[in-house]
Amino acid sequence: MNPSQKSIRTLASSLTAGLASSESLVEESLALIQKTRSLNMFTSVLDIRARERAKASDARRKAGKSIGPLDGIPIAIKDNMCLVDTKTTCGSHILENFVSPYTGTAVERLEAAGAVIVAKTNMDEFAMGSSNENSYFGPVVNPRYPELIPGGSSGGSAAAVAANCVPASLGSDTGGSIRQPAACCGVVGLKPTYGRISRYGLVAYASSLDQIGPLGNTVEDCAILLNALAGQDPHDNTTSDKAPEDFCAELARGVQGMRIGVPKEYFGEGLDPKIKTALLASLARLESEGAQIIEVHLPSVKYAISSYYIIATAEASSNLSRFDGVRYTHRAPTARTLNDLYCRSRSEGFGKEVQRRILLGSYVLSSGFYDAYYIQAQKVRRVITDDFNKAFELCDVIASPTLPGHPLKLGEGLSDPMTMYLSDIYTVSLNLAGLPGISVPCDEVDGLRVGMQLIGKPFGETSLLGVAAAVERTAKLS
Ligand code: GLN
Repeated sequence: MNPSQKSIRTLASSLTAGLASSESLVEESLALIQKTRSLNMFTSVLDIRARERAKASDARRKAGKSIGPLDGIPIAIKDNMCLVDTKTTCGSHILENFVSPYTGTAVERLEAAGAVIVAKTNMDEFAMGSSNENSYFGPVVNPRYPELIPGGSSGGSAAAVAANCVPASLGSDTGGSIRQPAACCGVVGLKPTYGRISRYGLVAYASSLDQIGPLGNTVEDCAILLNALAGQDPHDNTTSDKAPEDFCAELARGVQGMRIGVPKEYFGEGLDPKIKTALLASLARLESEGAQIIEVHLPSVKYAISSYYIIATAEASSNLSRFDGVRYTHRAPTARTLNDLYCRSRSEGFGKEVQRRILLGSYVLSSGFYDAYYIQAQKVRRVITDDFNKAFELCDVIASPTLPGHPLKLGEGLSDPMTMYLSDIYTVSLNLAGLPGISVPCDEVDGLRVGMQLIGKPFGETSLLGVAAAVERTAKLS
């Protein structure tokens, strides 16, 4: 980590040492948010609420009742997570004025750990996209590389960390939306195992793929956040009943004896050769620290994108049917009949990409096409999961690129949705298989940070984070 970058760990130490107060950290964060407004990273700034909570954190600390490493730390959350009495827009016109009547579990746990939520971050509408250019509120600018996309759909959350407005943030990942923007902005992003963190209060895109996760400047910060967020939730029956563990436990373990699988399919055609060289060099550094590099095979991942875009759009078309112009916010003012109201409210409220996906999803679920597309995609999903299971018989963690090349220029991919969909080539298969994955900056190519994606066994976050910490330690960053 560059010493000018904030981390939860360093901020928490200065709070403990009395060198800073939560109020001062929050003020600093709010000032930076104000100063970087032109980057369009936030949909709302919760200044009044944040100041009150910072004051409460300082009072706790004074009374000797500080809760832990997150107490008093400013954090930003993606604007598809409900926080009571604040707007949750999902980057959409249809929810532009929607105020959440309750707080979702992950956000509640974050606040219970003392974190101070300072702002909600801009995102691709309903988390659909890989560039943050699909937001109703306009694109986010990448703070590190202003001419390039910040990635998406959690682009605001990744950018907020890269711009140092907050040390860490929460994003959501359905097909890569935490790892991909983390790689584009040169930060760390973790998608946990499906079922590790509750989705209650996360506005659903594709429920069988969605997962909340942390983004930060360091691997350790992601582990600290995961400690606060993970665990079973009676409000979400897909959460696992696995006992909570300390995700920081293996951060200093090193990679001695670790078997790192390298799938041939992820290092072949389509990967920028310079990025490939950088990734292999980073793996060689792990090898010299005692890791074993093993070739593995994932023969079915070539079908991952097709299968993902069928399943994700099918689920989205169903999940988004609740936005009907009757409940929630946008209602077409000129509608004459009920059908007309649905039609107009949805046509006016949803952006182009969201409409495209609803159409695609309805198509693959329609009678006559259901078996040919949806059922087939579910079968492929099973086969991909089996591929990973087989590979994990030979290794502990799998390494791959996060992105096939450098991030696109702003505007470059807009006219061609297929190119945009293909940028998810290395990330979507993890969501299909429910596996945890993390993107960590490991080197620089052409002056841009390159992310390595590490994939863990189901519920293997502790050792995954351990290997990620080793990649971070041996990274070559300026
Ligand atoms: N880019 C992918 C999509 O548009 C992934 C999005 C996500 O993970 N939310 O579906």
